[in-house]
Amino acid sequence: MDRLKLPERLNRLGELAYNLWWSWHPEARALFRKLDYSLWNRVRHNPVKLLHEIAPEKLAAAAQDPAFRRQVDAVFKRFDEDLADQHTWFATHFPELVNTPMAYFSFEFGLHNSLPVYAGGLGILAGDHCKEASDLGLPLVGVGFMYPQGYFHQRLSPDGWQQAVYEQLNYDDVPVQRATGPDGRACVIRVPLNARDVCIAVWRVQVGRVPLYLMDTNIEDNEPWDRDLSARLYGGDQELRIQQEIVLGIGGVRILRALGIEPAVWHANEGHSAFMMVERIREFVEQGLSFQEATERIRATTIFTTHTPVPAGHDVFPFQLIEEHFSHYWPQLGLSREEFLALGAHHEPWGEGFNMTALALRLSGYRNGVSQLHGEVSRKMWRSVWPDVPDEERVPITSVTNGVHVPTWVAPEMDRLYDKYLGPDWVERHDDPALWERVLEIPDDELWAVHQQLKRKLMSFIRERARRQWIRGEVTPEQVLASGTLLDPEALTIGFARRFATYKRATLIFRDLERLKRILQDPWRPVQIIFAGKAHPADEPGQQLIHQVYALARDHGFGGQIAFVEDYDMHAARYFIQGVDVWLNTPRRPHEASGTSGQKAALNGIPHLSILDGWWAEGYNGANGWAIGGQPEETNSDPEVQDEIDAQALYRLLEEEVVPLYYTRDRDGVPRGWIQVVKEAIRTCAPRFSARRMVKEYTERMYAPAARACLQWRPSEQSG
Ligand SMILES: *Cc1c(COP(=O)(O)O)cnc(C)c1O
Repeated sequence: MDRLKLPERLNRLGELAYNLWWSWHPEARALFRKLDYSLWNRVRHNPVKLLHEIAPEKLAAAAQDPAFRRQVDAVFKRFDEDLADQHTWFATHFPELVNTPMAYFSFEFGLHNSLPVYAGGLGILAGDHCKEASDLGLPLVGVGFMYPQGYFHQRLSPDGWQQAVYEQLNYDDVPVQRATGPDGRACVIRVPLNARDVCIAVWRVQVGRVPLYLMDTNIEDNEPWDRDLSARLYGGDQELRIQQEIVLGIGGVRILRALGIEPAVWHANEGHSAFMMVERIREFVEQGLSFQEATERIRATTIFTTHTPVPAGHDVFPFQLIEEHFSHYWPQLGLSREEFLALGAHHEPWGEGFNMTALALRLSGYRNGVSQLHGEVSRKMWRSVWPDVPDEERVPITSVTNGVHVPTWVAPEMDRLYDKYLGPDWVERHDDPALWERVLEIPDDELWAVHQQLKRKLMSFIRERARRQWIRGEVTPEQVLASGTLLDPEALTIGFARRFATYKRATLIFRDLERLKRILQDPWRPVQIIFAGKAHPADEPGQQLIHQVYALARDHGFGGQIAFVEDYDMHAARYFIQGVDVWLNTPRRPHEASGTSGQKAALNGIPHLSILDGWWAEGYNGANGWAIGGQPEETNSDPEVQDEIDAQALYRLLEEEVVPLYYTRDRDGVPRGWIQVVKEAIRTCAPRFSARRMVKEYTERMYAPAARACLQWRPSEQSG
């Protein structure tokens, strides 16, 4: 921040650029856009980079412009009020807990594309959680990683093979600052790793009121191989992974101690951070408690959220790796080797090893899946952790359904519409279902016009991106066409954008190509599909799927009506979930634990066309979108059979319901029946699948009782 050279009068813009608060306040975004619109687009909405690169004359002119200065003042008035607000929801409901920090650990955080330390839904959920915690006034503190190379950028070769491009992050262009301890010095801690110590530096990211601490091993005190430990998200082998998890879990606890932060509540977002629980037990044992007593204490204050039923999504480490890294450690817990290994014991379907999810389930007192259906599936899946529990319903795993941070994901154009028809305070009240009844009062033609505008914006985003790649000579003419430049803003547009994990079945819609072609190429009622998404670099089948989709995007026979847009990230996601007509989701049930992209789409008036899995199994009401195939209990045990059933159901829905409804227009060209579905999607989904509802639920059901438990024995903890 110190390196920014800003005119006196615009001095505080630097502070704003370094607080991600700007990203979910449209009036703050507008300031940066106004400074230099074309640069704003070139730097992909990164205000830190913008302030570095902007011409000094432009800044000087803005500083002289009274209208701009008034706007700056208004933004800072709001900013200062927000950050100092003493009457937040949390302070009003839990006044006794406002000074008890709550730690939230996650391997990834998706806050904004300018800070690329996320891969997909899990990270974006963590980012949304922090933003909402800030809005509600929770004393939350995030802990994660600063990956200098982040997650990869995706390029496709002309024949459709994914290429992973890693970019070294320039820290000057990222809204991070070195975190300092109570003594004001940069904070560096040590963590023992396999007979050596690794030093960890800490960066601070400000998310409204919520600080996020990101660990980084790329410092001079470390050996070269340790400097690369935190280079990449989800890169490397199991040895690197366990070391990253030790740094996150054990290092994370030590960082908070070094920073002088004493959390009352500890939330592990997925099993990657479960060593945090072990480290807290070690601390108590060091203070004189028995392992049993220590475990009871940490359970009472630990929340664990599991995020996937897909076996590959759970870390299982070979015993040998555990021995190498923990044989010096388990004596400090007062445990034998067998006792320690038993903490990570599990049954099918993994074979031998130390299971991080089983560890987290055993050591946390509050455990949840991320939708009702996923809760059920998790109780079944993890039953063996509680051999004495008589039946599945009583396995102690509950569910808190995911939601999305509404101010982050709502399109500015929809925001203005909601301002007008729900009231200018709609954002403050957005988890109140009664508020959303007023959506029915929005005139159909006005809603339709706003949607058309967002759709054109998506298409021009796609076109401009292709144009820039073309100018730089990065793509062949065929690739320009495959990336969506032939898309027609008048045609019904289906969006499918998410990670290319095989269970998401991106190619389900291609099972019967002739039938699909008839649907897409109806001259009176054309349909087009836009795809986007990355496959993990080690996921061969996922890359095969991308290859297949790309082959059809390049296929002359489909006439450019199937598009694949490269390098899906939060920036691209905003355009997608605001600008297509219908959001397609075809996971192999029950593998989609929740899914959140459909929630973002619904908030913007884009109905969901989805298998009844994850959040949609509880979100669908018969009128707010479409359900592909049957109820969850009707799932066939043979996936091949189920694929066929689902594909047939999808074609039938498109042919008989979705396409006809979209193209049934009245005399002024407005699809009245379609708008009914749009309004119903907004009305029912926006309040319920918001991060606000979600964070309130975590707070009331878990954080508050856990914090109270902690306050009961805090004095003794602090005397130790
Ligand atoms: C919301 C989001 C996701 C999550 O999508 P799912 O529906 O959970 O598959 C993934 N990536 C990005 C960039 C997103 O914005």
